[in-house]
Amino acid sequence: MSRVGIDDPITALRGIGPRWAAELAGKGVFSVGDLLACLPFRYEDRRRPRPLAEARAGEELTAFGQILSARLIRTRGRGMEILTVLLDDGTGALPLVFFNRGYLAQWMTPGTRLVVHGTPRLTGRKAELHSPDFDLVRAGEDPAEALGWLPVYEKLGPLTPKRMRAAIRTALAGLDEAPDPFPPALLAPYRFPGRLEALRAVHRPPPETDAAELAESRTPAHRRLAFEEFFLLELGLALRRFRRRAERRSGGYAIDDALRARLAALLPFELTLAQRRVVAEIEEDLRAPWPMNRLLMGDVGSGKTVVAALAMLAAAENGWQAALMAPTEILAQQHAASLQRLLLPAGQRVELLTAGLPAPLQREARERIASGRSRIVVGTHALFSESTAFARLGLVVIDEQHRFGVEQRADLAAKGTHPDTLVMSATPIPRTLAMVTYGDLDVSILDEKPPGRRPIRTVVRLHDQRDGVMDGVRRALAEHRRIFVVRPAVEEGSTGLKAAEEGLREYAARFPEAPVALVHGRMKPAERQRNLERFAAGEVRILVATTVIEVGIDVREASVIVVEDADRFGLAQLHQLRGRVGRGDIKSYCVLLASGEAGPEALARLKVLEETDDGFQVAEQDLRMRGPGELAGTAQSGLPSFRMADLVRHQDLLLAAREAAFRLVDERGEAGVPRALHEEALRRHGDRLRLAEVG
Ligand code: ADP
Ligand code: MG
Repeated sequence: MSRVGIDDPITALRGIGPRWAAELAGKGVFSVGDLLACLPFRYEDRRRPRPLAEARAGEELTAFGQILSARLIRTRGRGMEILTVLLDDGTGALPLVFFNRGYLAQWMTPGTRLVVHGTPRLTGRKAELHSPDFDLVRAGEDPAEALGWLPVYEKLGPLTPKRMRAAIRTALAGLDEAPDPFPPALLAPYRFPGRLEALRAVHRPPPETDAAELAESRTPAHRRLAFEEFFLLELGLALRRFRRRAERRSGGYAIDDALRARLAALLPFELTLAQRRVVAEIEEDLRAPWPMNRLLMGDVGSGKTVVAALAMLAAAENGWQAALMAPTEILAQQHAASLQRLLLPAGQRVELLTAGLPAPLQREARERIASGRSRIVVGTHALFSESTAFARLGLVVIDEQHRFGVEQRADLAAKGTHPDTLVMSATPIPRTLAMVTYGDLDVSILDEKPPGRRPIRTVVRLHDQRDGVMDGVRRALAEHRRIFVVRPAVEEGSTGLKAAEEGLREYAARFPEAPVALVHGRMKPAERQRNLERFAAGEVRILVATTVIEVGIDVREASVIVVEDADRFGLAQLHQLRGRVGRGDIKSYCVLLASGEAGPEALARLKVLEETDDGFQVAEQDLRMRGPGELAGTAQSGLPSFRMADLVRHQDLLLAAREAAFRLVDERGEAGVPRALHEEALRRHGDRLRLAEVG
């Protein structure tokens, strides 16, 4: 048996040559260790062979026996090869039949021992096992190897599932003991098996392994490997934060009780508990000698803007400029207006800078920003255009951060010297997911709504209840309500234009008493704006939309939203849509109308929204039901993919791994991280995190 090391190239394995290696490289598999990181996606229980005397047609079985006889025939005409082997285990015998695999005859000779698995079928009056799965048990080999948990692999490039099994078996058999790069003290609290032992156990689970734990990848071996994978990512993130914290800001903030009191006096209300917690987290960042890098997540209306305003004012009072960047012109205007309302008593003028402003006004705004006279600035992309220069940019707030690319964020940050950065997202995602997608950002969560909000009543209706829903729309119109109707794109990739236009016609015909208008993504901005304004003014009573209304529409009088074919949307997206109503004082309703294709599972998913209006809970459910890739807000942010860890099943391990990785770096610094771990973290995540080797 030739020995291999875990870091050896994959070609070190017998049977894998340069051609396959090249194909495997395309799948990200270069080393023996990479191959071993491809875990079985399920296991078959082959621990208990059935006596052949009990073999019945139609009943799946595993059997272990010896070949009594073997006969290979070639049919005339079509030239088919049929190999029939009689397997005997002392209790009885069962014919095995293989088609067009004559070459097997050289191994399937009398006396050879076989473990087989399959479902016998009736041929004539006798049971036969056709084309079974088999393992040869060579002389001197223990059948227990083949009688156990059988790992089942996904095909990987040129490696069929069966070849995968063989390649991994070869690798495990030849694997040299290698030192475990994880310091024992780090792993001590978890009682994990060692690294090699864990790798062996996930590929060839010992017979006593718990079936339920195996089915859910919860064996100690699986958990050890998942922890390891999470840990290496979190270590990369911790290193990145460590390096960033070495960038000292040019000056610090003084935040004292006097300033706090002045800020508090500005607000016409008490902060919620969650807001107070977040404000304290931000204050601590502002006082720290390194720049803040914080993500603030909270549902629409949870009071993020208020928190940002306090931070911006603290910056301004400390002699810095603060800039808030919004993804659209409308949002920038709304932010500027509400900040101005809030900050006027503090004597702060809010500067608005967008591309939509007349050129002379833009020029004047830029002059005030460049001279430092404007301390609080709100705008769109125009903020980071080349012609905008800040005198002393100290704080950057980015709203709806997932709509901006990383590059654009970096552009704005480059206008200051390591400014503090606060990114805000109204698309809550579970904390665990935030940790891996925006992992090196510190995360603050506003999970409490300001008091006095009336909950939105959400109801799920079946497709055949559509007429009833339309009656409801008529009653709502009679109550002088304003109504959003959302129709999804039916065809993949289309903008939903057709669906929305049909919707417009249908609603206009059904409700002649109510003016109806349309907004969609292909519309000229001016026309869209005009329709929105007419809706806001009450001239239009029903606004039919594609999902463009997801972000940035604030019509307080809208109190009903009907989402058609709601099952075509993700829960998080529906939750966002629902947030378009309930902004005023009127009791609001959200009707989720299922499509004709919605099955019980889809309906169960929609019901989640009936039960909770907390965006974090909705996202948590969405994660569980649809997996991390589908969650709104993660796709654009580049969710790393994991081979061995599962973001849903191993959430607890992610938290533990993050804690351990950040503690290691905080306590010992970059130089104190064991070399092997440091290298491994950079090798895996260096590119993604833009980490380069130092020194
Ligand atoms: P977000 O930015 O998260 O959508 P905002 O900060 O715009 O939320 O707040 C939404 C509304 O709630 C605003 O009208 C704001 O004045 C109000 N608000 C915010 N915090 C509170 C609070 N603690 N008590 C009462 N009203 C609040
Ligand atoms: Mg907001």
